Amino acid sequence: MPGLAARLRAIVGDDGVIDHPDTLAVYECDGYTLERAVPEVVVLPRTPAEVPPVLRVLWDAGVAFVPRGAGTGLSGGTLPVAAPVMVCTSRLNRIEHVDLPNRRVVAQAGVVNQWISNAVRAAGLFYAPDPSSQPACTIGGNVAENSGGPHTLKYGVTTNHVLGVELVLPDGEVVQLGGPVEERPGLDLVGLVVGCEGTFGVVTRATLRLVRAPEGYRTLLAVFESVAAASEAVSGIIASGILPAALEMMDSLILGAVEAAYRIGLPTDAGAVLLVELDGQAAGLDPQMAEVEAVCRRHGVRELRLARDEAERAALWKGRKRAFGAVGRLAPNYCTQDGVVPRTKVPDILRVIAAAAERHRLRIGNVFHAGDGNIHPIILYDERDPDQVERVLAAGREILEACVALGGSVTGEHGIGVEKIRELGLLFGPDDLRAMMRLRAAFDPEQRANPHKVFPDARVCVETRAPRRQAPM
Ligand SMILES: Cc1cc2nc3c(=O)[nH]c(=O)nc-3n(C[C@H](O)[C@H](O)[C@H](O)COP(=O)(O)OP(=O)(O)OC[C@H]3O[C@@H](n4cnc5c(N)ncnc54)[C@H](O)[C@@H]3O)c2cc1C
Repeated sequence: MPGLAARLRAIVGDDGVIDHPDTLAVYECDGYTLERAVPEVVVLPRTPAEVPPVLRVLWDAGVAFVPRGAGTGLSGGTLPVAAPVMVCTSRLNRIEHVDLPNRRVVAQAGVVNQWISNAVRAAGLFYAPDPSSQPACTIGGNVAENSGGPHTLKYGVTTNHVLGVELVLPDGEVVQLGGPVEERPGLDLVGLVVGCEGTFGVVTRATLRLVRAPEGYRTLLAVFESVAAASEAVSGIIASGILPAALEMMDSLILGAVEAAYRIGLPTDAGAVLLVELDGQAAGLDPQMAEVEAVCRRHGVRELRLARDEAERAALWKGRKRAFGAVGRLAPNYCTQDGVVPRTKVPDILRVIAAAAERHRLRIGNVFHAGDGNIHPIILYDERDPDQVERVLAAGREILEACVALGGSVTGEHGIGVEKIRELGLLFGPDDLRAMMRLRAAFDPEQRANPHKVFPDARVCVETRAPRRQAPM
């Protein structure tokens, strides 16, 4: 691509283009590390206005690109597959407009999720989608993946909180979809862009809905002897008619790792714990929590620990939200799977996961959004052993096939990326997939934006690089 980097530098400046191999290595993968590929050029626009000319240069040169935010994705969505240029929106990091009376913000794509809630907390508002990666992941990535989080159970996922997006199409045309008001006639084009995994173009701005912070919280740690008992309690809580803000589960393997890392007093000899959070009008919370505790007792709970103050609540959430980081203590590498089952099938899928672990001689921990049946088996391995890698892939496939057989889906929130292209075929037939690809072609007829992602096609083989450890031993 002679001259391309120079043309990009003319738009974004010298510090906005990376083409030195040492620095490019940083961009070889995202949070999904089983496959790696280095882009030829990374371009980092500093303003939304720089994105259209960047894409026009690529369009004129016939070059495909992959958008990237913070690179925390867990399905390899930012892997450059036949896309030599990476367009990284992490420097588009301004919250441009805060409209407190109408509860809206306009944020550039590179704004970190957590910054939105931080900016409006004093006004008693927050941005509800809260992926556990929220101190790092960006709004652009959240929009692309339709991200969820522990509080998805009550508040919904990203698509429920995005009112509008500014999207730059691969030929450089800027389109404004949606806007500041709630209801709009016509097709829900914003809904199409949310979750398209960067295959329509580059999102540069989003108008996001804010939510009033609840008057109070009650946060409970319920300790069970087994994952089966904890799973039954999950079904019981939902069946009781109470809708917790969050209902999360951690099993014994994860509890051990989290406790070793953060020393917050978790019961490391338990089979599983549930983290149950209720929020809303302060007056109604205690009776509802009493009902939750009663359900837990009916399912043989061993211990109930209600957070007594904000510090205890924060400690419990720290353990949950940083669980993935703690897992680095258990093995050199791990692969976080993401599937969904109807919540009544949580006990069944946990049995499948345990059986897969035994059959493939792997350790698998579980930390997940139990309330909405969104499982996250964390498969531990050492990538220096190719046989282990094969077993990880086989176990992951079996678990996802079981999710579908149980009436669920192959991803709850991490997306298809490169990881699950084959598994998408478990859910959709060729006609469905062709229809989706035709829809994508309306935005990106030449498949220049994030090609070879999401939709099954003749996959270009990715050259995998020498393994690198995810965590110290
Ligand atoms: C520890 C940890 C915990 C996590 N917890 C959760 C969780 O609770 N819930 C959850 O849903 N996810 C979770 N994730 C996954 C990940 O954080 C989310 O998918 C997140 O939305 C990715 O944001 P990002 O900015 O890092 O995007 P990236 O990883 O950079 O990109 C992800 C995808 O978005 C596309 N993209 C990025 N920016 C743009 C843009 N501006 N325009 C168009 N496309 C774009 C990319 O092409 C790619 O396909 C977790 C990840 C980690 C590492």
